[in-house]
Amino acid sequence: MLCTRIRTALSARLDGEELPPGLTARRLETHLADCRECRRWERQSRALTAVLRRAAGHPEDDVDDPAAADALLARLRPAAVQPGPVSPGRADSGGKRAG
Ligand SMILES: [Zn+2]
Repeated sequence: MLCTRIRTALSARLDGEELPPGLTARRLETHLADCRECRRWERQSRALTAVLRRAAGHPEDDVDDPAAADALLARLRPAAVQPGPVSPGRADSGGKRAG
């Protein structure tokens, strides 16, 4: 069983869609029990789905793992956006000055 097929089915299930032909919920669970990569993928997808639903205005969907969702959001944010003003011309790499 290819992981990609499993993940397609997992994605469908998260979206509330029917599983692809030939795949059952039991089959998915069996694969997840054996495949750490797919478990991690499902975990991230679940967190992402929860975040998207929350953003879409469905707060009643509780997030199983808020920390994972926050971490996911942090990774989704563009890395180019820096907090606070950046003074042009100086190449300081954010050293802190004490006192
Ligand atoms: Zn897998």
